[in-house]
Amino acid sequence: MKQWIDKLRQERTLRPEELRQLLTGCDAETLRYINKQAQEVALRHFGNKIYIRGLIEVSNCCRNNCYYCGIRKGNPNIERYRLSQESILDCCRQGYESGFRTFVLQGGEDTALTDERIEMTVARIRQDYPDCAITLSLGEKSREVYERFFRAGANRYLLRHETYNESHYRQLHPAEMSGKQRLQCLADLKDIGYQTGTGIMVGSPGQTVEHIIEDIRFIEKLRPEMIGIGPFLPHHDTPFAQYPSGTVERTLLLLSIFRLMHPSALIPATTALATLAPDGRERGILAGANVVMPNLSPREERKKYELYNDKASLGAESAEGLDALQKQLNAIGYEISTERGDFKCNP
Ligand code: SAH
Repeated sequence: MKQWIDKLRQERTLRPEELRQLLTGCDAETLRYINKQAQEVALRHFGNKIYIRGLIEVSNCCRNNCYYCGIRKGNPNIERYRLSQESILDCCRQGYESGFRTFVLQGGEDTALTDERIEMTVARIRQDYPDCAITLSLGEKSREVYERFFRAGANRYLLRHETYNESHYRQLHPAEMSGKQRLQCLADLKDIGYQTGTGIMVGSPGQTVEHIIEDIRFIEKLRPEMIGIGPFLPHHDTPFAQYPSGTVERTLLLLSIFRLMHPSALIPATTALATLAPDGRERGILAGANVVMPNLSPREERKKYELYNDKASLGAESAEGLDALQKQLNAIGYEISTERGDFKCNP
């Protein structure tokens, strides 16, 4: 197995058959080895610095009905909210004071949060914080709307493709949603000039090794600047409530594969991984991740943005927990970087 890992580090690619062997035959020792290789590559590119992004969850209203997601339209049991522009700007102000230089505005596809309203909010943040990066994660829009947000000052966009395989996409989403459409959005975002992020949930219902290989190859072609990989976690009020979570090990294996294939990509140790295991964040970093995204949303709304059961939003997952985060990172030999941390080909 080690030969494939060494080859992956050297050549930054593997044939599907080699990937299949790695994905099906990875035991504990192999996992330790690939994690170590990926950590070395991340250290070489970024040093021991971990970038922080302030996550502002702007709305939990959504017109979509993804089977895995707790804020899906069909969940009648959550209290819906939408932040006002003032509230979003307050989050930015607090975040800026704590040292954040990237704000990530994420939310459901909320039709009341109109394109104009988002455009105006982006323009205000751009005006008030000219030195900060603005990342959006607001789902699927037309190319023209993505262009408007970009012109208003947004720099980055996160849109996980969730799965490249069409029939698997249909297992995860109702018929009115389309994987093709989502891939078109990603092509548009890249073309417009956004630093673009995509990714998958590890262990989503119905996911097979073949699907993962397709995802790896799709991401290899797209060459996104950011890659978001977290475990699937069930939410009690969704059709997938009874499905098991993805595993820590499989998530760490994929983080390392992506780090070896994409040495300069920005790869977060996700909140989902930190929710699944108490030391998930640290293990993600030791497997090649180099970004964390603490929660900057107003305290009273945080628990309402429940994508999955028990989603972490306090302690080191929160902006007020930066000291705790710093300590956790120090303990494994890393430090928080307050730089903007834009994608660079050879950082
Ligand atoms: N509406 C935006 C943001 C979605 S939430 C969009 O469509 O992109 C951000 C990510 O959370 C999703 O892309 C999905 O990969 C992840 N997510 C949603 N539900 C999840 C669950 N139950 N377990 C793990 N991750 C989940």
